[in-house]
Amino acid sequence: MLPNMHHAEPIPEDARAEIDRLLQTGDLFRYTAPEDAPVALLEAEFAAEMGVKYALAVSSCSAALFLSLKALGLPRDARVLMPGFTFAAVPSSVVHADCIPVLCEVGENYRIDLKDFEAQLDGVQAVIVSHMRGHTSDMDAIMALCNARDIPVIEDAAHSLGTTWHGQKIGTIGRIGCFSFQSYKLLNAGEGGILITDDADVVARAVILSGAYEHNWRKHLARGDNSAELEQAFARWQNKLPLYNLRMSNLSAAVIRPQIAQIARRVRDGRRNHDQVAALIEQSPWISVPAKLPPEERAPDSLQFNLCGMSDADVRAFAEAAEARGVKVQVFGLSTDNARAFWNWQFLPESRELPRTRAMLMRACDTRLPARLTEAECDAVAAVLIAAAEDVMGETRAYGT
Ligand SMILES: *Cc1c(COP(=O)(O)O)cnc(C)c1O
Repeated sequence: MLPNMHHAEPIPEDARAEIDRLLQTGDLFRYTAPEDAPVALLEAEFAAEMGVKYALAVSSCSAALFLSLKALGLPRDARVLMPGFTFAAVPSSVVHADCIPVLCEVGENYRIDLKDFEAQLDGVQAVIVSHMRGHTSDMDAIMALCNARDIPVIEDAAHSLGTTWHGQKIGTIGRIGCFSFQSYKLLNAGEGGILITDDADVVARAVILSGAYEHNWRKHLARGDNSAELEQAFARWQNKLPLYNLRMSNLSAAVIRPQIAQIARRVRDGRRNHDQVAALIEQSPWISVPAKLPPEERAPDSLQFNLCGMSDADVRAFAEAAEARGVKVQVFGLSTDNARAFWNWQFLPESRELPRTRAMLMRACDTRLPARLTEAECDAVAAVLIAAAEDVMGETRAYGT
């Protein structure tokens, strides 16, 4: 039996009582209550979960990326380097911050091509490492290159909650980490995002920019040790920054908070499902699943794989055959107007051809694989993918060279 691959998990029951309480009181704005608003509690809980000093919850991960660039004080037209394989909202956040996105090549293993990354670094004032679909690029090499040039690194960890690199949580390696609570991510509030950092000045600026008008930043002061450092940073920036109003509502925080306790289970099940399907489909001569890098432990809720030895027409036929058999597969570079294909980002002020990234996007397939699937359902998904490749290529192999 094939599962529904698009339904998220139900929101935990505990969220309902809290939402009902909020609806009864009408207390939906994060800055109405003097303290302990659900958004403030979410920030404290998320910072503790990630082992960082500060967290700022906002309206989306894209808003968190935009605020990160503004909080770093990047001037107009600053060049921001990022991988050429990401979601259109990521270069958009750079354009929104009046900066110029610079793209680098991505290899067929979906990870940043380090040679091209290094070649593009001159003149760059910030880097966004977008861990697309939760695939982690070589963070040791990236941090060494950026630290040597004093370039700040922002991690777009929207889809990487629960992923680790040498045991360190993704999103805590760069100066700032940004996560998403959009429905296809590990924590689902429909919409939402959060920015984490250990840098008091960065978070103070981001808090004010996000819409902490007047002295609402006081509600971001923890009772713990960091308060003096943070209070001084807030005082420095009072009245000096615009207010972009990208805040999170208490309702969203109420939906997210009870899910934090489920992160570990969702990561474990997602990894199990992914690795099970990957091992099965690897046996097809037409399919390859790129290996993770050794220091990385993944937290996947979707599956990416490359088709080998197929023409564009074969690849299209594969996607149709898989859908006819009940599993929806998107080929990043072949579906019309795909938001993850860099040639569709026609709003960019500068563009460049990325032949390696383009070649990867023309063969890379994407299918959802939610953590809630059972092992039997995962076997069924793998069987569909193998059979779809056989539908298209079986005759070629039988009668070919
Ligand atoms: C989902 C996603 C985003 C955008 O997140 P929003 O919260 O929808 O703005 C950015 N980057 C990556 C890698 C994503 O997966």
